[in-house]
Amino acid sequence: MRFLITNDDGVHADGLYALKKAIEHLGEVVVVAPERQRSGAGHAITLNEPLRLYETKLPDGTIAYGCSGTPADCVTLGTLEVMQGDVDLVISGINHGPNLGWDVHYSGTVSAALEAVMIGHPALAVSLSTFSTDTHWSTAAAITLKLVNWLIDNPIPPHTLLNVNVPNVPLADVKGISFTRQGPRQYVDRLEKRLDPSGKTYYWLSGTIADHQTADDTDVTAAADGRVSVTPLHLDLTDHALFSTLHKIII
Ligand code: MN
Repeated sequence: MRFLITNDDGVHADGLYALKKAIEHLGEVVVVAPERQRSGAGHAITLNEPLRLYETKLPDGTIAYGCSGTPADCVTLGTLEVMQGDVDLVISGINHGPNLGWDVHYSGTVSAALEAVMIGHPALAVSLSTFSTDTHWSTAAAITLKLVNWLIDNPIPPHTLLNVNVPNVPLADVKGISFTRQGPRQYVDRLEKRLDPSGKTYYWLSGTIADHQTADDTDVTAAADGRVSVTPLHLDLTDHALFSTLHKIII
């Protein structure tokens, strides 16, 4: 099998290296990832400046490619140029931080996987649900390997991906794996207004997470319960329930 792995935390991120080491025995692993931190890049692409690839080395001495562009750009360059279209699975991660519910719209990690399915390759997005520096990468790596092996026997339909969030605990303490749907999640108090040393105003995006009370079968609830959430996503943002009402109305 030929894997492309990427992320939004940068080509030298610990989570990406943990992912690479977890799956490399399954086949060929090509790494194309942003040359710098790109969390929150969403599905941005680079249109008005050159895109460049730089060879670099991972801690095990293998070659990886740093890319000047966004996570979505990395998937385009990785699949079309570096791998010449010969790709069996694209995996984005392992992200340092959760990507749950509505948050996925900001996520470079999930958007890289969405770019892969747009191009026509199956994809996984994997995140470790913590912002702490005390990280259990090995848990997320082991879960990813389990899911990749499952996907080999159970391929998902074209133009779909699995968004995976793993609790930051030792593997033995994970309370199961649940297939989930997106729950509601948003940030509140998002904007901090500050003064710089010269007295000029600047703003800093921040905020705290406000998880709404939500159903048992959502990713947000699974994460709160210490379970792995596996949410199938696709590119279609249509509200199908509203569409079924609206399309009968003639204005
Ligand atoms: Mn990130």
